[in-house]
Amino acid sequence: MSDVVLVLNAGSSSIKFSVFEAEGENLPLFSGQVEGLYTAPKFTAKSAIGTRIGDREWGDGTALGHEGAIAHLIEFFRQQLAGHKIIAVGHRVVHGGLAFAQPVRVDADVVAALRKLSPLAPLHQPHNLGPIEIVAKLQPTLLQVACFDTAFHRRQPELAQAFALPASITDRGVRRYGFHGLSYEYIASVLDQFDARAASGRTLVSHLGNGSSMCAMVGGQSVASTMGFTALDGLPMGTRCGSIDPGVLLYLMDEMGMDARAIEDLLYKQSGLLGVSGVSSDMRVLLASDDPRAAQAVDLYVYRLVREMGSLAAAAGGVDALVFTAGIGEHSAAIRERACRDAAWLGIELDPVANQSGGPRISTAASKVSVWVIPTNEELMIARHAMKISQAAG
Ligand code: ADP
Repeated sequence: MSDVVLVLNAGSSSIKFSVFEAEGENLPLFSGQVEGLYTAPKFTAKSAIGTRIGDREWGDGTALGHEGAIAHLIEFFRQQLAGHKIIAVGHRVVHGGLAFAQPVRVDADVVAALRKLSPLAPLHQPHNLGPIEIVAKLQPTLLQVACFDTAFHRRQPELAQAFALPASITDRGVRRYGFHGLSYEYIASVLDQFDARAASGRTLVSHLGNGSSMCAMVGGQSVASTMGFTALDGLPMGTRCGSIDPGVLLYLMDEMGMDARAIEDLLYKQSGLLGVSGVSSDMRVLLASDDPRAAQAVDLYVYRLVREMGSLAAAAGGVDALVFTAGIGEHSAAIRERACRDAAWLGIELDPVANQSGGPRISTAASKVSVWVIPTNEELMIARHAMKISQAAG
């Protein structure tokens, strides 16, 4: 009977899960999700080699909710994992605030402390915490571990975390936290398998997915990131605006009569690639489109990406390596090529053939900066943290 670790990533309308072996190489066993939790719930699961092992739909208008979904998943795990033992559940939690600079074993006090951070991430934090409480109720003795998207950035220099605001506001926790930390931590953990200089030196990592951000690392530690107080800052994303002059918000309020909720909807859901193109938030669709507004959205995405590279290079004091990861970073040779071409001044020389075939190394041997495509694996990072805490707990 082998031990396994379960990883849960709960959002407002979906719960994603993965199961890993707790021993050896931590091989993935299966993964899946329940989506449309409050509209048209749909459960799918596939094995590590992609075979469908679970399917269920509840029909339009069924409010299965988080609790119903977890109850279904527990039943599914019971069948799939007969002969295995779940030794820990690792949860992705977006915000650890200032206090949680590493993963933590969850108990009622920790949940209460994390709930207090909900105003810092109202769209995510409550949904991340809900399943922790549901699992605690259903399986009170099961070890649960919270892993934070902010934690990897907590050791950034103070200056990199500061806004130029009065101390009375900074003291309320209004500062740059940075996100996608589990992805960056995973990349940092595998960098030396690709390039010893990237692992010990100054490396810019571009996590380009629906949510996009960049992180500057020195010796595998975060020194600066493009996301700040929220996951809105920095690069334009699928539907989020990225960095914006705060004066725009005053204009939206004063001149357009928009309230906080309307602005939230605009900046989180109607902006970015979708807002500029009016076509789609999906990079694949934009790259295939001949609509000039789609081209404009892609141009802006690349322009901002390259500007942020310059900013992060300054924060790191130079660049030895550049890494592309996540959906766009791993799969779009076109975006990588354009970004590397426009950032040639940093000392980047792309190998177009290696770039087309997906790397891992996509820069020439002569390139001053080595450039890599490295698939991220946030779930495995969470599983490893949960296993470590489980081992420490005996
Ligand atoms: P999330 O942030 O939701 O985890 P992903 O990391 O899966 O997102 O990235 C999704 C993005 O990756 C989408 O914009 C999608 O179009 C893009 N993407 C995936 N494959 C390709 C590809 N072959 N070419 C261009 N973009 C791609």
